[in-house]
Amino acid sequence: MTIPPALQPPSRLLLGPGPSDAHQRVLRAMATPLLGHLDPAFLTIMAEVQEMLRAVFRTGNMLTLPISATGMAGMETCLVNLVEPGDKVVICNGGFFSNRMVDVAQRCGTHVTEIKRPWGGVFPLDEIAEVVRRVRPKMLGVVHAETSTGVLQPLDGLGELCRETGTLLVIDTVTSLACVPVELDAWGVDAAYSCSQKGLACPPGLSPMSFSQRALDTLHNRKAKVQSWYLDLSLITQYWGQDRSYHHTGPITSVYAIHEGLRIVLEEGLENRFARHRRNYKALRAGLEALGMRYVAPDAHQLPQLHAVYLPAGITEELPVRKRLLETFGIEIGGGLGELKGKIWRIGLMGCNSRADVVYSLLGALERVLSEAGLGIAPGAGTIAAQKAYSAAG
Ligand SMILES: *Cc1c(COP(=O)(O)O)cnc(C)c1O
Repeated sequence: MTIPPALQPPSRLLLGPGPSDAHQRVLRAMATPLLGHLDPAFLTIMAEVQEMLRAVFRTGNMLTLPISATGMAGMETCLVNLVEPGDKVVICNGGFFSNRMVDVAQRCGTHVTEIKRPWGGVFPLDEIAEVVRRVRPKMLGVVHAETSTGVLQPLDGLGELCRETGTLLVIDTVTSLACVPVELDAWGVDAAYSCSQKGLACPPGLSPMSFSQRALDTLHNRKAKVQSWYLDLSLITQYWGQDRSYHHTGPITSVYAIHEGLRIVLEEGLENRFARHRRNYKALRAGLEALGMRYVAPDAHQLPQLHAVYLPAGITEELPVRKRLLETFGIEIGGGLGELKGKIWRIGLMGCNSRADVVYSLLGALERVLSEAGLGIAPGAGTIAAQKAYSAAG
């Protein structure tokens, strides 16, 4: 065989639903030489990662750690550890990822009651409360930031409801963590999972997760062993907990990456970070609307870090536009999933990509590509709208 040339990936701006660009400092941290996974110096780094994760999740939960795999493994970890065959589970299902949670819960042998909404819908507390009080499930599953639709689901009142009914509250924060407030303790969340490649601006490969004391008690009182060996938290905590004994080889470089990613989040400060995401959201939104795009989610429940927008009138095929953005401008955006496939674009402004220069680059490129596609767009229509939004915000 001929040996392929050394890697030389094209330059890209990653504005899809994830992965998002990794911060330069994170990439540099990843070039740090390896340590052994039980080296005392590495154990210190692990402990620091856990402490920083608690700060970012706003929790005192001892069991807070990154699972050595992507966000879906975090979802699977929460479910396989907390539920057993025959358990009752309620899931709010209004998008692609909540639909996956239903699938995972069913694979665990549970009886799932779905509260359904058309994609893009938001679940009102009274509707969730009615079902949870009637079914009395062991677990309620909610996707906080539904990346397929751009919806931010409010979680107010769910913690109290779940305590009243003896239910565990499990939330997907894969797209919300470090972009919008996530308050595990204040909200009474029992289990949450996230990922490294969205708001934390690290490469994919880790899934930070956290278990409350109630969740831990549930784990300890299981009737049967957790079916998955790799994701069994009672085993994983032998490595990430007090014992620090071998379970699997820690992914050293990924842990270096998240260590630096979390340091960056905490240096900026969570409130500043959320405000930055909101500021750039408003500017991008003004620009996209000026270019004729409408949002899937209701205004009051729109995520600042993920814009799911319908194709503007006059564009019938979404793929050629995305292809042109990628090939000519090096910008990646996402298409729709499931029932929104072919109908929307999904644009991420997450982590270090939530910046004014990124907003202007994307809007400038979109103006050009959409004009070429035949839309009568005045030059500067999008970027001027963004500039006005930034000025209005002061
Ligand atoms: C991205 C995403 C996931 C899946 O994460 P992976 O890292 O791709 O495994 C799960 N839930 C939501 C809401 C997501 O946006």
